[in-house]
Amino acid sequence: MQLAQRVQQLPPYLFARISEMIAAKRAAGVDVISFGIGDPDLPTPGYILDSLKRAADVPANHRYPETEGLPEFRQAVARWYQRRHNVTLDPEREIVSLIGSKEGIGHFPLVLIDPGDVALMTDPGYPVYEIGTMFCGGESVKVPLREEDGWLPRLDAIPADLARRAKMIWLNYPNNPTGAVCDLAFFERAVAWAKANDVVIAHDLAYSEVTYDGYVAPSILEVPGARDVAIEFNSLSKSFNMTGWRIGMAVGNAELVGALRRVKSNIDSGVPQAVQEMAITALDGPSEAIESHNAIYLRRRDRAVEVLRALGLHVDPPKASLYVWARLPEGERSSADYAARLVDATGVVVTPGVSYGEAGEGYIRLSLTIPDERVEEGLRRLAAFARGEQVLPQA
Ligand SMILES: *Cc1c(COP(=O)(O)O)cnc(C)c1O
Repeated sequence: MQLAQRVQQLPPYLFARISEMIAAKRAAGVDVISFGIGDPDLPTPGYILDSLKRAADVPANHRYPETEGLPEFRQAVARWYQRRHNVTLDPEREIVSLIGSKEGIGHFPLVLIDPGDVALMTDPGYPVYEIGTMFCGGESVKVPLREEDGWLPRLDAIPADLARRAKMIWLNYPNNPTGAVCDLAFFERAVAWAKANDVVIAHDLAYSEVTYDGYVAPSILEVPGARDVAIEFNSLSKSFNMTGWRIGMAVGNAELVGALRRVKSNIDSGVPQAVQEMAITALDGPSEAIESHNAIYLRRRDRAVEVLRALGLHVDPPKASLYVWARLPEGERSSADYAARLVDATGVVVTPGVSYGEAGEGYIRLSLTIPDERVEEGLRRLAAFARGEQVLPQA
């Protein structure tokens, strides 16, 4: 048996070293606290769960859904975009449901990328962008992000021949892992650059509602004419604590949305209708749940920033996302070494920035998605470590 190249090419598990350490710590009886994974700890709001329970009793929902999603779901997405972004979408042609946005992001390169084609992505970045392109035999070229640019790509610095060769670019603001945000002016520049170079923009808006300090995240489709070149991936996962229910949407350019729908209709049969009913309830519902979740993350954010600064890391409090992205103290070079040392000394797990690409080296990421008391305990240990105290009993 010989596995396909695309499987052999899958990158080695970057957290392997940390995972081994966690396992060793646990085996030694250490209570490990992980700030590693971005998966909301808070439950899905009750009124959204109630609509799932009601929908489960309807026999029509026991059957195959349509790939593109219920018309009622797509209409709810259109209402959301109208209300939230003042963007008018045609539910028939410009919206398709996804089994979580990761599914759509992973499959989207099938729409555009032939073997040898180039897709641009920002570095550091969400690893799925690269994998989808690799599965299509395409090449991902990384556009580095830098702290001094607010983690926005220098589109004008992309060499002209590369820009011409590229078929698409992945953008993601609010950004994972950096927590960076952009304004509409950045999207305007991106759309103009994409049109000039005949490049499709795939924008990932997974964190649109997880925002702080009055920041409101724009959709790229708010730029006039953006839908000539852009498709946007969006999700209920982070906004409504629905990661376990798997529903998202791709919206924008009708040709791209239609092609994605055709690809998907050949490999999946859509999102369970009862889950679509939940999503309709969530999208049409009140914003209190979002606000109260954000208040909780905000408290955790501020506490984490304080402790990380005491450790000598440089942190700008993020205006969005579930993450705190921190620059290592002067003289520290390897984010993997630093993370390994933290686990070793404190039992606290953080993600090395290099896991998200070379440009993430020198940084670590903390996810704010563990219960308050675990956040407190983890930060208490880090603060003690910062004061030079011994945190864990000597092995
Ligand atoms: C969490 C996340 C997603 C996908 O979430 P789904 O649950 O698949 O909708 C997409 N993009 C980024 C950057 C994420 O962090």
